[in-house]
Amino acid sequence: MRLKTFPGGIHPHDEKHYSKAAPITNFPTPNRVIIHLSQHIGAPSTPIVAVGDTVLKGQLIAEPSGFVSLNQHASISGKVTKIGKFMHPTGALAMGIEITSDGMDQMVELVDDENFMSLPVESIKERIAAAGISGMGGAGFPTHVKLSPPADKPIDVAILNGVECEPYLTSDHRLMLEHAQKVIDGLKIIMKVTGARKGMIGIEANKPDAIDLMHKLCSKEKNLEVVGLKMQYPQGAEKQLIFAATGRKVPAGGLPMAVGVVVQNVGTALAIYEATRYRKPLIDRVISITGSVVKKPMNILAPIGTLYSDLVEFCEGTTAPVGKAISGGPMMGFALPSLNAAMTKGSSGLVLFDEKEAKSMAEHTCLRCARCVDICPMNLMPSLIASSVKYHDLDSAVEAGLNDCIKCGSCAYVCPARIRLVQWIDTGKLRYAEAQRNK
Ligand code: SF4
Ligand code: SF4
Repeated sequence: MRLKTFPGGIHPHDEKHYSKAAPITNFPTPNRVIIHLSQHIGAPSTPIVAVGDTVLKGQLIAEPSGFVSLNQHASISGKVTKIGKFMHPTGALAMGIEITSDGMDQMVELVDDENFMSLPVESIKERIAAAGISGMGGAGFPTHVKLSPPADKPIDVAILNGVECEPYLTSDHRLMLEHAQKVIDGLKIIMKVTGARKGMIGIEANKPDAIDLMHKLCSKEKNLEVVGLKMQYPQGAEKQLIFAATGRKVPAGGLPMAVGVVVQNVGTALAIYEATRYRKPLIDRVISITGSVVKKPMNILAPIGTLYSDLVEFCEGTTAPVGKAISGGPMMGFALPSLNAAMTKGSSGLVLFDEKEAKSMAEHTCLRCARCVDICPMNLMPSLIASSVKYHDLDSAVEAGLNDCIKCGSCAYVCPARIRLVQWIDTGKLRYAEAQRNK
């Protein structure tokens, strides 16, 4: 198979060896979970339960508070013990609902529609919206909204993102190996809902077993194609994946629908399948707990809202003091002040580094080497954007492409002067958003 790719990008060590051979293991019911009200892009959900209420696993406990918002469900049965602020996987404090387990793990009733592919499109969309699914690759866009493009933006290609280009993470890899047919059925549902005639599954070359399996299962379906992709970061970013798989270029500031494409993560496809066939809400997901100090790195199917500290304990703890904990992958994830955060629908991994790996390097003056420019997958000048932000020249930063930056971190990774380019760009994005709000 000829491997496809995109221009620019970098080649970090993939470090997948820690957990890639670990089969998905079910997490036992935790003593408590925190269901965050912001697990997605858009308005936080609104609670419909109060402290003291008893809830079943799978019961609706928070509703959307706007068009781009989401349903949230209890992921264990028990009692609502607090509604307040808890640590979010971004490291910030955010509103959530705490449920303390009754130890019964009693679930709401599900269905089994064996003929789920015959359901009308509107019914499928209703089930996906009811299940509270948001993109599970990290971006967190509500799935029912993404699957409802306006009539003037027809979709002809649906791409499943099985790239998992972030170093260390292996949850999507294991999902493709252990639930391949369900993932493919999820893709077929996405194609039916969007009207896409072609379905593609993009997988990076460091997962040859997943490529082979998907290829075997799709070989008799003439409208499905498995695309092998070169190991190159950020191969899994939406615009880069679309270009590599189809050759189409999403315009600056545009969405994939501008070129007739919809992209969904493989975990999201599985959740779509379960919501459509069983009316199962999104109450669990696979997460990789990995890194050099994790005693037994694992891929765990855990209830949404499980505390990171409980997951690490399930992996038999650590072999050395933790120097840094990152929620998500090391390139785009968030450094955490502690392991008290609870996982959300977008939590693909937790990576723990030792103190030596976590050592931060001093920042030096820019050498004008242009390495950051050469590798930027969005064709930007990261050094110019960052210095414009640093010197409070927001207009120049915007002109240089501040809003087109996908925060992939490649520029900071290659910078020999160790300039915190992404952090400066992120600061610029926050300042820009504030300036827009105050207009
Ligand atoms: S400027 Fe943005 S898109 Fe370009 S390499 Fe840096 S983080 Fe990635
Ligand atoms: S890579 Fe670093 S040192 Fe080189 S031009 Fe970019 S910001 Fe300057």
